[in-house]
Amino acid sequence: MATITFIGLGNMGGPMASNLVKAGHDVTVFDLSKDAVSALVAEGAKTADSAQQAVSGAECVITMLPAGQHVEAVYLGDNGLLATLPAGTLVIDSSTIAPETARGVAEAAKARDIPFMDAPVSGGVGGAKAGTLTFICGGAEETFGKARPILEAMGKNIFHAGEHGSGQVAKICNNMLLAILMAGTSEALALGVKNGLDPAVLSEIMKQSSGGNWALNVYNPWPGVMEGVPASRGYEGGFLVNLMTKDLGLAFDNAVKNQASIPMGALARNLFQLHAGQGNGTLDFSSIQRLYKPE
Ligand code: NAD
Repeated sequence: MATITFIGLGNMGGPMASNLVKAGHDVTVFDLSKDAVSALVAEGAKTADSAQQAVSGAECVITMLPAGQHVEAVYLGDNGLLATLPAGTLVIDSSTIAPETARGVAEAAKARDIPFMDAPVSGGVGGAKAGTLTFICGGAEETFGKARPILEAMGKNIFHAGEHGSGQVAKICNNMLLAILMAGTSEALALGVKNGLDPAVLSEIMKQSSGGNWALNVYNPWPGVMEGVPASRGYEGGFLVNLMTKDLGLAFDNAVKNQASIPMGALARNLFQLHAGQGNGTLDFSSIQRLYKPE
């Protein structure tokens, strides 16, 4: 069992840290939200007054933060963790950020002999709670080998995508596809309901037909069709519209840099931005269904 510090206990990080505690690791947690920290302490984690204090004695540090600027703030600069961590400490960042930001942190870590890996996740809050996340890792093979047994306490599928930043590239591609699928699923459901169909019946038909996809299988966006998903609790919790918009921005920036064409991704980005601009940024991303006015 390892001594692990987990920083960022939000919708995803909270249940991920909880699974590390359940697996018997010695876990210290830190978050700017005191409530998030208290919930983990109640489950057996330790805590500290600052991120710097929380990482003291850690063999492994894991971060699960909203965006690139938070990751840079935590790791880089004079007060950043890389300046204080001993050489050899395994550092894993599971936030979804730009590949070049991940590479920048990896380089700064390498200069201090600290093995770093980008390891963004897929599977949503449900996957985080169930410990069935998919981890998409970028970094050296040796670092991947060290990280794998720790990630296994939080995930089921653990992929090594390639060198530093590769995990983020794969994650960005996946989330762009997810946004397109969620918007498309919402659109199809709205059209069917306009024609008088029951959304649950239509969902079941499409699930078993060629339009079947992850949104229909485990994350239905229509209120009341599926139990336990954000759509059935007013789109609270889950994966925020603001975070999906961030990820679509990462895909767009990456496409511009690489002269790649992403017309569907660009359209999805516009739809989610429009939706966020209408005051829905802190709702779950499946609330894109509201753009098609089901309620
Ligand atoms: P969240 O906003 O719920 O949680 C982020 C947490 O980080 C918050 O508790 C916040 O207080 C904390 N935080 C921010 N800055 C901090 C700092 N400097 N020090 C300590 N704590 C700090 O976000 P989330 O939904 O858990 O997502 C986290 C990351 O995972 C994002 O990059 C997101 O894109 C990605 N992601 C989310 C989902 C999902 O379904 N929610 C799925 C896959 C990936």
